[in-house]
Amino acid sequence: MGLHPERQGFCIYCRKHVSFNPDVPACTTCGGVCSMTMRFSSTEDAPSYCHACGEPAYVSASNPLCDSCKARPPSP
Ligand SMILES: [Zn+2]
Ligand SMILES: [Zn+2]
Repeated sequence: MGLHPERQGFCIYCRKHVSFNPDVPACTTCGGVCSMTMRFSSTEDAPSYCHACGEPAYVSASNPLCDSCKARPPSP
């Protein structure tokens, strides 16, 4: 299991490139503590993107990976 500290991910809200970090799967613009909390309750059906592959998917801050990435984490 290799770790990739500089691995790239995607902001789940705007698809901007960010460091891969499932704990904070959003860019600083979208992922501020306040905006994250607000978005939690209001983005249930909003377009989102998989944090790992950037594909449109039903994801959230607590569940930032699409089904295929959860099933098999993508190679770097
Ligand atoms: Zn963003
Ligand atoms: Zn994915």
